[in-house]
Amino acid sequence: SHKLCMIPGPIEFHEDVLQAMATPATSHVSPTFIPALGESIELLRQILFTSGQPFIIAGSGTLGWDMTACNLIEAGENVLVCNSGYFGDRFGECLETYGANVTHVRVPIGDAPQLEAVSAALQGKKFKAITITHVDTSTGVLADIKSIAEIVRKESPETLIVVDGVCSVGSEEIRMDAWGIDVVITASQKALGAPPGLCVLGVSERAIGIFKARKTPVANYYANWNRWLPIMNAYEARKPSYFATPAVQNVFALHVSLKQIVAQGVEKRFVLHKEASAKVKKVVHDLGLKLVPTGLDHAANGMSAVYYPEGVAGTDLLPKLAAHGIVAAGGLHTEIASKYFRIGHMGISVTEPQRGHIDATLNALKSSLAECGYKVPQ
Ligand code: PMP
Repeated sequence: SHKLCMIPGPIEFHEDVLQAMATPATSHVSPTFIPALGESIELLRQILFTSGQPFIIAGSGTLGWDMTACNLIEAGENVLVCNSGYFGDRFGECLETYGANVTHVRVPIGDAPQLEAVSAALQGKKFKAITITHVDTSTGVLADIKSIAEIVRKESPETLIVVDGVCSVGSEEIRMDAWGIDVVITASQKALGAPPGLCVLGVSERAIGIFKARKTPVANYYANWNRWLPIMNAYEARKPSYFATPAVQNVFALHVSLKQIVAQGVEKRFVLHKEASAKVKKVVHDLGLKLVPTGLDHAANGMSAVYYPEGVAGTDLLPKLAAHGIVAAGGLHTEIASKYFRIGHMGISVTEPQRGHIDATLNALKSSLAECGYKVPQ
């Protein structure tokens, strides 16, 4: 039978989302598909709190890095990467692929980006863009993007503010326009509640303007916004259009999920994710386990990264969890990979508590730890 996929993405999705995938072959310019993509673009504006331009493109979150890097950065330009783990390293690599001159502001494992360090880096150089991993999925660290954006807007107003929201959109508060964020990158398979397969972006009007004013050509064919802007505009105007075939069934699925998110209320979902996270973290703490994030004030609300207790190995715990019907994830941050595990608590597992996903996961964790011979400290 189906084990619950409680990893930090792909996450469990709704039966109606599953049904939307099981549709017969449909033309990407058909009257059933055009409004599904068109309305998804509109719904994303509500979810990201932006008046800017959403993009929904076949691919994954990684394509969002490419799209940001190839369209907004010209070779030789400086980019500041707020690095709180594995995904900061990877985003930096992607930026360098397009000739960016990348400076990393790093933190010890489990810490969040420090405002003073960002501020100091901004004094040293002029940066075309700053990137912030909102939730680094390798550490479960939540960055304070609102405060970082405030500093950048004040100290270096021309610097574009790019948020990797792959593991945060839909579970953490993000207000693009109000906080002055230029790009939010995400993907379909996490808190947006759909299967993997789509790259999702929100881009501010300012960033689109800077893109249009670039001096050198975009060194990428598929990811070039010049090709996708007319397509997104056409679908939003409910007109057929073609550059590269959209992932029809994935878009149907995303559309169903986005409608559910907006119907429930984006703000309500921020609260529900906070509550579910607090519950998970309290149980983890009461079990005597330690989180990878060094403080609860910068721990993500859609996932938890937890060190194995002394005497328990991941090679034992994860299969035991699976035997209890729960799929959790191992470590990802190379320096500590074998020392911790990760649980996702996003989407319907959180917004529909009657499903019992979180309780089932926590109960399985308790049983599995006991089966590993672990005794809860008194
Ligand atoms: N950024 C973050 C923070 C992520 O968690 C991930 C995926 N786990 C990515 C980027 C890359 O996304 P994808 O795997 O969908 O390409």
